[in-house]
Amino acid sequence: MNEIKAVYLAKNRDNNVWNSSSSGGVFNALAKDIILRNGIVYGAAYSDNNKVIHLRAETLEECIKFQGSKYVQSEMGNCFKLCKDDLKNGKYVLFTGTPCQIAGLNLFLKDIDTSKLYTQDIICHGVPSPEFYKRYIKFMEKELGSDIKEVNFRSKLLPNDIQDISLKGKNGKVYRSYGTHDIYYNFFLRNIILRPVCYECKFASVDRMSDIILGDYWGNPKNVPYNLKGEKGISAVFINSEKGKELWRDIKDSFNYMESTLEVCIQPNLRAPSEARIDVEMMWNDYEKYTLHKLTDKYIGSYKKMKIERRIKVVLADLNILPVYQNLKRSIKK
Ligand SMILES: Cc1cc2nc3c(=O)[nH]c(=O)nc-3n(C[C@H](O)[C@H](O)[C@H](O)COP(=O)(O)OP(=O)(O)OC[C@H]3O[C@@H](n4cnc5c(N)ncnc54)[C@H](O)[C@@H]3O)c2cc1C
Ligand code: SF4
Repeated sequence: MNEIKAVYLAKNRDNNVWNSSSSGGVFNALAKDIILRNGIVYGAAYSDNNKVIHLRAETLEECIKFQGSKYVQSEMGNCFKLCKDDLKNGKYVLFTGTPCQIAGLNLFLKDIDTSKLYTQDIICHGVPSPEFYKRYIKFMEKELGSDIKEVNFRSKLLPNDIQDISLKGKNGKVYRSYGTHDIYYNFFLRNIILRPVCYECKFASVDRMSDIILGDYWGNPKNVPYNLKGEKGISAVFINSEKGKELWRDIKDSFNYMESTLEVCIQPNLRAPSEARIDVEMMWNDYEKYTLHKLTDKYIGSYKKMKIERRIKVVLADLNILPVYQNLKRSIKK
């Protein structure tokens, strides 16, 4: 296992990259570094039918589809095998994924020279079930009246919150929601639909096999200088190894950044796995019998109410008066 050598807060200076990333846009800079060495990058992407799968990329253009957090377990396919071949052929490789995927890769490659392999994982809340995701997409296709052509879990299209989702239909219709008012986000963040192994995750700590861990900065925005401000995501970058240090040296000029500490950037999933707070088994039994609508009513709260509140919140956000409305609501409650 590697140990944390340094921690940085970082925001990509390129606004296009920053906007198309979930957080501070660090992955893009890492990918660029390896591609410039004529290397290969692996990461999680959406397939044409909205599944989440791992793919291999030879160009920076191909790496763009790896940007953005996909809150679904990705299918690895034959990427471990392809990575092994790339390393045997003397290529530099950047492999990115969840901590357990990186640990699995290291095990798979234990008999070959990995001096040109660089790995990046994430602080990991857990990955939701692809089966639930499939059902959700079908449900939303009915709502939109069209097949969905684009999913974005961190669209940055709505202000004041980093967790929002947008779905684009082939008919041109767009669904936008804050995480708080979306079915999938609710089941995900309430730890109801994570893969069983995630509730016992061995990697919910800073002891990792990767060279770099990426996460979001959740600390007080007041504690960062003006050029790092941005409600839509600052990355916490944990450097774990000499290779991690080397990558950071190469990419740091692409960022506004500052040195930080583990104490400042610590998160629940760096201490312990996500906890199942309800009877998950019962939910999966109900899943077989209930519609998503009914399942939401039972485990999250009235779907109808969620839908109405979502619409109001999005309109207020578009009118730029959501914070005023929220402050008013809070003061009435007091
Ligand atoms: C399932 C999941 C849970 C997460 N939980 C947390 C958390 O609890 N706390 C926190 O601070 N950050 C969490 N993150 C990470 C965070 O949201 C950002 O993705 C990360 O900080 C990188 O941001 P970026 O802007 O540098 O790059 P981006 O361009 O946004 O990130 C892309 C990177 O994420 C990888 N990736 C995307 N989706 C998946 C997937 N399904 N499986 C494997 N790899 C994937 C890509 O391969 C690429 O390396 C999570 C991400 C995912 C996918
Ligand atoms: S929570 Fe742990 S087991 Fe689940 S995907 Fe993340 S690293 Fe893997």
